[in-house]
Amino acid sequence: MNPPVATGAPDTTGAQPLLALREFHPFEAHGARFLYMVPSAGIFRMDDAGCAILDLLAEGPAELDAVVEALSARFEVDRILGTVHELTEIRAIGDVDAPKEQVPNDLPPADFPLNTMVLNVTNKCNLACTYCYEYGEDKIVDTAYGKQPKFMSDETAEESVEFLLQESKDQPVAHLTFFGGETLLNFPVLQKTVAYARRRAAEEGKRIEFSLTTNATLLKPEIIEWLADNQIGVTISIDGPKPVQDGLRVFHNGKGTYDVVLPKIKDLLARHRSRPIGARVTLTQKNMNVLEIFRHLTEEIGFWEVGLAPVTTQEHRDYAITPESKDAMLLQFEELANEWLECALRDEHHGFSNVRDTIEEIHKGVSKAYGCGAGLGLMGVATDGEVALCHRFAGSEEHTIGNVVDGVDREKQGRFLVDHHIASKTDCHTCWARPICSGGCYHEAHVNYGTSSHANLHYCTWVRSWTHTCLEIYGALAEKNPKFLERFDA
Ligand code: SF4
Ligand code: SF4
Repeated sequence: MNPPVATGAPDTTGAQPLLALREFHPFEAHGARFLYMVPSAGIFRMDDAGCAILDLLAEGPAELDAVVEALSARFEVDRILGTVHELTEIRAIGDVDAPKEQVPNDLPPADFPLNTMVLNVTNKCNLACTYCYEYGEDKIVDTAYGKQPKFMSDETAEESVEFLLQESKDQPVAHLTFFGGETLLNFPVLQKTVAYARRRAAEEGKRIEFSLTTNATLLKPEIIEWLADNQIGVTISIDGPKPVQDGLRVFHNGKGTYDVVLPKIKDLLARHRSRPIGARVTLTQKNMNVLEIFRHLTEEIGFWEVGLAPVTTQEHRDYAITPESKDAMLLQFEELANEWLECALRDEHHGFSNVRDTIEEIHKGVSKAYGCGAGLGLMGVATDGEVALCHRFAGSEEHTIGNVVDGVDREKQGRFLVDHHIASKTDCHTCWARPICSGGCYHEAHVNYGTSSHANLHYCTWVRSWTHTCLEIYGALAEKNPKFLERFDA
C-alpha cells in the first residue's frame, strides 16, 4: 500500500498524531454510506471498515493504536491500517492539528475563453410581469427611460458575433443565446445575426450553437419554421396553468397571456423537433404549487423539460417566497427529484431539469471558484454593444466590463474575478456545499445585499438541503444503475 500523501497522515513509526475527522459531508443512499469531499468534490463509497473508523472518530480524536485496538475484534489489523491510509489520502481524516484545507484562491488564466454570449437584442417587452427583474421593482437598469436603444442594430449584432468568435479563442464551438426584453420583438435582427454568425463561424473553422428565450406571445408559423430549420434551442418563459399564468404573466393592459401562448407553444412543440424545447418557470409566493405546475407543463402541454427558479427579489415584496413556502417548495422539489430517480433507474427520461443539472455537476466533480460563469465564460451584451457580467446586468454601467468593439477591459474583469472569487467570500469557507454553490448568483446578491460580490446567505439552508437531496439521488444511481451516469461524461 502506498504511503499517505495528505497533510496529517498517520505516522506509525514514532509518536502518533491524534487522528480526527476532516471536512466532508456524509450521505446515505440505498443502504450505502458515502462521503462528499470538500473542496475537491470527490465522492467516496464507504465500506464497513471505513464506516467503523469514521464512527469511532466522530466520538473524538484518537491515536492510530487506539483505533486499531477498538476495531481489531471486527477487522484484520492490515485492513484497518489500509483503510486509515485511504481515508487519510482522500483527506476524510488526518492529524487533529493539521491546518484546515485552504479555500483555493487561484484565478482563471488570462486567456480563459468566452463560451456563451447572451445577446439582449431588445430591452423592450410586450408583457408586464410584476416580478420581472428588468421591469419590476428590483430592476437595476432603467430600460424604460435609460440611454440604451430599445433594439439592437444589425451592426451591433454583427460586431457582437465578431467579439464572440474572437473571445472564444481556440474553442471549436461557441454558444450564442438571444435574450430580451421579449426577444422576438427584434426578429429581423435575429434572422440576420444567425445567418451572419453561421457564415463567419464557418470561415473561422468554428461552429456556433444558437438558443433563445421567449414569452411565446409572438410565435407564429413562419417564426416557428425558422426556429426549427435553424435548429435554434428554445426556452419558453411560462409560469403554469391558466389561473397561474394569467395572474402573473400579463400584457400591459393586464390581460392574461395563457390563451394566447398555449396554441402557439403547441404549434412550436409539434413542428420544432430538432432541439428539445424547455420551459422556464419563475416561482413566486403566488405560484407555489410546484407539482401542479410541473405536471401541467410536461403532461398537458408537452414540454420536454422544465426548470423552476425562485424569483429574485427582496424579501419584503409581496411576491417574495416566505420561509414557510420555501420549505414546502423544497418538499415538492424532493418529490420530483425522487420521480426523476425512479425514471433514471429505468433508463427513462424525466423532465425536471433542476435535478439533472445538479446531478451532472456532482458527477463531473465540479468544484466552483465562482457562483456561475458570468464575467468569464459567459457574458451579456446590451443593445448598444456594452458587455456586462451577464444578461441580467446588461446595460448596468457598474457591471460593464467592456464593449464588443474594443473588447473586454481586462483590468475591470480582473478586479471582478478577485472580488467574486470564493476565496473572498469568507462566510462560505466553512460550508460543505461550496463546491456546488460558491456563493450563488451575482444578480440575486445585488438585489438582496446591494453588491454582486456578496454571498447569498439568505438561501444557504435551501441550497444545502437541495444539494444533499441530489447527492442522495446520485448515490442511489451509482448503486443501482451506474450506467445511467455515463451520459454525463461527455
Ligand atoms: S449572475 Fe446570476 S443570472 Fe447572471 S449568469 Fe450568473 S447565475 Fe445567471
Ligand atoms: S452562499 Fe451559503 S450555501 Fe452557498 S456556499 Fe456560501 S455559505 Fe454555502
